[in-house]
Amino acid sequence: ENQPVICAGCGVKIQTTDKRELGYTPPQALEKDVVICQRCFRLKHYNEVQDVSLNDDDFLRILTELGSKDALIVKVTDIFDFHGSWLPGLHRFVNNNPVLLVGNKSDVLPKSIKHSKIVQWMKHAAKENGLKPVDVHLMSAAKGDGVMETADLIEKYRKGRDVYIVGCTNVGKSTFINRLIKEFGGDEEFLITTSNVPGTTLDMIDIPLDDGSSLYDTPGIINHHQMAHLVDKEELKIITPRKEIKTKVYQLKEGQTLFFGGLSRLDFFKGDPQSFVVHMSNELNIHRTKTEKADELYKNHLGSLLTPPGEGSTENFPPLEKHEFKLPYEKTDIVFSGLGWVTVHGKGTIVRAYVPKGVQTGTRPSF
Ligand code: GDP
Repeated sequence: ENQPVICAGCGVKIQTTDKRELGYTPPQALEKDVVICQRCFRLKHYNEVQDVSLNDDDFLRILTELGSKDALIVKVTDIFDFHGSWLPGLHRFVNNNPVLLVGNKSDVLPKSIKHSKIVQWMKHAAKENGLKPVDVHLMSAAKGDGVMETADLIEKYRKGRDVYIVGCTNVGKSTFINRLIKEFGGDEEFLITTSNVPGTTLDMIDIPLDDGSSLYDTPGIINHHQMAHLVDKEELKIITPRKEIKTKVYQLKEGQTLFFGGLSRLDFFKGDPQSFVVHMSNELNIHRTKTEKADELYKNHLGSLLTPPGEGSTENFPPLEKHEFKLPYEKTDIVFSGLGWVTVHGKGTIVRAYVPKGVQTGTRPSF
């Protein structure tokens, strides 16, 4: 077998088969004297990082490397998919390195929601998952809100050290880094180091900072239990809120059910008649029915009336699993990771949330 070709930029093994995976290079680029992967190519020529993803072993390797550094870790999460975009092992690997936790996509939150409440919840949720960030901040990488403040926080906490940006795919990590490059990078081409020894690199993109240290973009890991991976590209556009969310209000009584496409379901099991306020993508189709008819409806209409998933995605779609919640607060958000949440009143109200096996659901005090 041939010697593997190694990217002269980042040292990753070159492959020509999967565009989304690390090391991809178009076959014709192999003819060149110096071969670099597409990711390095785009950074070099367009000052732009590209979204690549890794398998779990590679990611574990990167996490392990992070632990051996003296650096600031910036962890980017999607506030609409906080648990889905969590990196479960991270806190065990970072050792004493500080972690700055950033919640992205703040632009889609309804204006009525106070950012301080979300920050408070993120702190709490991080702690519950074993991570104690030095700070928590919200931003919109796409719109730019909070990005400069995030950059200031990075400067404050890195204290001259390198910076590693981590996050799973789809949280907006590339959008964020590309914005940083635009703000701070000027027009010069980024130097791509060529001294990497194959197999020892972090597969990371190196963005030089002005004091000689670097900002590294780590490849995003695929969290298979994310809702985003259960639908196709077009469907993902439907479920991902892209504009400020307009809440939808449903007056419900016991025995009624809401379907969020065919992706999740919420049964109002016990409590006084009241409004259920849905915070999800404006494009997501919501269907109300009687709970007693819900199973039948799902069986017969998943992929048609209850969509997404569309007809092409239903076959491998995992079964919905039931989670019962007795609401602990006067005003509770029932969270469907990757979709959004529903605000329900009344302490003691009993609801049943159904999510695809593996996808996270839970409650929190309402924003
Ligand atoms: P990565 O996989 O983490 O690098 O994520 P990308 O930067 O490729 O972004 C994933 C998706 O989220 C894309 O569709 C982006 O347009 C979108 N996105 C990124 N940042 C934001 C943001 O601040 N707000 C909104 N609404 N969408 C964003």
